[in-house]
Amino acid sequence: MRPSHLFVAVVFCLGLCAASFAQSASNTKPAPGFSTDTIDKTIDPCVDFYQYACGNWMKQAEIPADRPAWQSFSELDESNLNIERGILEKAAAGGPGRDAIDQKIGDLYGSCMDEKAVNEKGIAPLRPELDRVAAVKDKGALIDEIAHVHVVGPSPLFNFYSNSDLHNANTVIAYIDQGGLSLPDRDYYIKDDVRMVDMRKHYVDYVSEMFTLAGQSAEQAADSAKTVLRIETALAQASMDRTLRRDPKNRDHKMKRDDAVAMAPNFYLNRFFVAVGAPSFAEMNVGNPEFFKQVNGVVESESLDSLKTYVSWQVLRAAAPWLSQSFVDANFKMRQALTGQKQIQDRWKRCVDLVDGSLGEALGQRYVELTFGAEGKQRMLKMVDALEKSLGEDIQELSWMSDETKKQAKVKLQAIRNKIGYPDVYRDYSSVVIKRDDLLGNVARTTEFESKRQIAKIDKPLDRKEWGMTPPTVNAYYNGSYNEIVFPAGILQPPFFDKTMDDAVNFGGIGLVIGHELTHGFDDQGRKFDPTGNLRDWWTEQDGKEFEKRVSCVADEYSIFVAVDDLKLNGRLTLGENTADNGGARIALRALEHMIADDKTGKEGRKIVGYTPEQRFFLGFGRVWCEKRRPEYARMQVTTNPHSPGKYRVNGVVQNMPEFQKAWGCKAGQPMVAENACHVW
Ligand SMILES: [Zn+2]
Repeated sequence: MRPSHLFVAVVFCLGLCAASFAQSASNTKPAPGFSTDTIDKTIDPCVDFYQYACGNWMKQAEIPADRPAWQSFSELDESNLNIERGILEKAAAGGPGRDAIDQKIGDLYGSCMDEKAVNEKGIAPLRPELDRVAAVKDKGALIDEIAHVHVVGPSPLFNFYSNSDLHNANTVIAYIDQGGLSLPDRDYYIKDDVRMVDMRKHYVDYVSEMFTLAGQSAEQAADSAKTVLRIETALAQASMDRTLRRDPKNRDHKMKRDDAVAMAPNFYLNRFFVAVGAPSFAEMNVGNPEFFKQVNGVVESESLDSLKTYVSWQVLRAAAPWLSQSFVDANFKMRQALTGQKQIQDRWKRCVDLVDGSLGEALGQRYVELTFGAEGKQRMLKMVDALEKSLGEDIQELSWMSDETKKQAKVKLQAIRNKIGYPDVYRDYSSVVIKRDDLLGNVARTTEFESKRQIAKIDKPLDRKEWGMTPPTVNAYYNGSYNEIVFPAGILQPPFFDKTMDDAVNFGGIGLVIGHELTHGFDDQGRKFDPTGNLRDWWTEQDGKEFEKRVSCVADEYSIFVAVDDLKLNGRLTLGENTADNGGARIALRALEHMIADDKTGKEGRKIVGYTPEQRFFLGFGRVWCEKRRPEYARMQVTTNPHSPGKYRVNGVVQNMPEFQKAWGCKAGQPMVAENACHVW
């Protein structure tokens, strides 16, 4: 039941956006920064640079039992969890001087940590919601109920949200889109390979167990599970796959509200819009019209009882993590099948995540007060400037792009805004009621707050100050509609950003991250948006073709990389991220070279612990992506995650870079020297 609508369409992030089923968090030491101790010197860097940079890290690292993977994102997440826990325990303890923010975050955390009370209540707190669904008498009334669920809980059947108009980014409009699935991707319902078939068996057991816990007989529950799988499979069949959805043009179907309503009459969309409390509007965007046309038939052919079973399931599943132990356990068992995670996280970690997901800018405000200084922001601003300058030069020098397109590209580059650390204005949660003894009610009320906030934006000007990630988040993003790059305070820590380290290491870490986000403005998706964030083609036809040729090289390169067993990466799904990694590395190194050249003291150019600045740049880059994944999780990521695994985020990039080969003295024919090196940006 956590808010999940924000920026559905056009955010490209650095790390793990797509891993929504793979909850984060665990319990080892705080994140160490860069160190040459992670290097495995028995490996030739020109043969396998990732192994060279991360070999000793991998020998020592163990995936904590409560995590599906271990990497710098999780290392930092772990230390953040501890900081946030401190904030929340203090806020929950109360006492004099507790202000309104501490009351909200403290009591939400406190209601979550009171496991005894939660266990005693069993399913009782959810009963009124399930009774509402059970009481529905016809399919029109079912849509009213689905609308209610959309506001206070998950989103059965389809997604409804607001976002900037693809053709007029300054205005927010209503969107409806495909949705309503419980497994991580449509492939889980449709594909017939052994592992997906096996996952569906796990899924049916999971649904069946949950309905049993909710009071159905074993026989009823087994029937309910079949119904849920049948309906969700029909939704999956009507859904567009992830790779096709990468092209914003495939999601661009602005139409009159009346036409959208007429397209799928069984959805009773007018009734839905009224029931969710949407303001009146005349036009909207339908992400995938085919989905609505096809599911219109499903709503007709399925009985009212079957549809009610499906909606009840959605309600039950979303609430399960916040119900008593048996629900929590059943829910975790499914996660385990998907990710290989051995143990559920400690309750306090799940509760910290709940507060971050529900009242994130309130908790974030406290987090920033504790952790983020003005100095960090200043140094970041300087680096962003350096990276923008270097991308500008790179564009100027491109041999394959005409002056006309270059001019447009530079206009777009100059228009990119940046946000660093935390929002100027924090979200005001004063209207949300948080009660110390009502966990599920709190979850519903914070979800309702967020749903209504999203809905209220329809037909209003875009608020360009808004943030799509909370301050403690260890991630970064580029948003095409806002044409902005955003770096929450959470990522401005070692090994990404280390005040005690030389510039070379920082340019390989956070410098590359900045370059990565900037390059997203010009990847296969980002290049389709103009400086204001409108979906508009500013390329000459010839340059567009040249671009496509160059990104095809990247898609082919990554398509042969093996993620786990015999499973290869999807080069088209990961294309934007791989393009951003390659472009980011090039422009970050270029910015470093400028810094070395401009430094009159010669300090920037010196060797440290035997490594040149260029070598330290690549080592810093490698360190950021050192990781271990459980095989189950690695498999899930191939299907759902647009980012490549760490090994290929490193090796896939360096093998394309003559600068790398020069820095390490690699020779033609060695694995880290690609025969047909790809070069977009
Ligand atoms: Zn990215």
